[in-house]
Amino acid sequence: EVRVALMAERDGPAKPAPRILAVGSGKGGVGKSTLSTNLAVALARRGIKVGLVDADIYGPSQARLLGTEGTKALAHDKKLVPVATRWGVPVLSMGHLIEPGQAMAWRGPMAAGALTQLLEAHWEEAEVLVVDLPPGTGDVQLTMLQKFKPAGAVIVTTPQDLALIDATRAIELFTKGGVPIVGLVENMAGYVCPHCGEESDPFGHGGGETSARGLGIDFLGRIPLDIAIRRQSDAGEPPAAGDGPQAEAFAALAARVAD
Ligand code: ADP
Repeated sequence: EVRVALMAERDGPAKPAPRILAVGSGKGGVGKSTLSTNLAVALARRGIKVGLVDADIYGPSQARLLGTEGTKALAHDKKLVPVATRWGVPVLSMGHLIEPGQAMAWRGPMAAGALTQLLEAHWEEAEVLVVDLPPGTGDVQLTMLQKFKPAGAVIVTTPQDLALIDATRAIELFTKGGVPIVGLVENMAGYVCPHCGEESDPFGHGGGETSARGLGIDFLGRIPLDIAIRRQSDAGEPPAAGDGPQAEAFAALAARVAD
């Protein structure tokens, strides 16, 4: 049982290494980073000590999503110190190490080295590390599986992405690496009208559940396409930290992941 495994060591020996919860997707733009941020914040609101690692080395976004843009990460004893946030979720991203807009034209081994630094930082206080992986199945993902094997992986898709082979490939990457799939999240599922709040389903309803069943994995829930999520995310205020329906949706997701 993945959920049991994720939380198993909470009452165990003093300061066990944080368990890694990887968040992956087959392709970019499906909201994987947004999901990672808000899942981390929602888990923290459940009283779990959560850290967030932005493993999207080439396209980091967690500094912005957690309102820490412009903050530089410091080092102590040759290890990076996670950047504190207002949401109780310490975070480390390339965005805390490089200047904004600086090109990251690195080869695979350098990116893997950067990932290692982010993961081998001072995460002593964290019980769970949510790791926002780059989309697809490249060097960073392989390093992750070989050096820092996740306790579980959450897969993010959109209704449009569900039928595509990309998500399946992401799932295969983890299962072949011996990482249990916690489940599938369908993001941008349904559209919340910014005027009246009514939710409609331009891409139909139930696709995520059907796909998850077909793939033999759990369905964790759907997050609607909601302009409030984009606005708050862009402003560095994770919607999961608020008290609107968006926060409820992420809280439900965190409950399914944690229980
Ligand atoms: P990825 O990490 O998969 O590339 P992002 O998390 O960067 O995707 O999301 C891409 C864009 O979509 C961002 O502008 C983000 O604010 C927006 N977005 C993500 N999820 C939602 C949602 N449920 N509702 C509205 N906008 C969203």
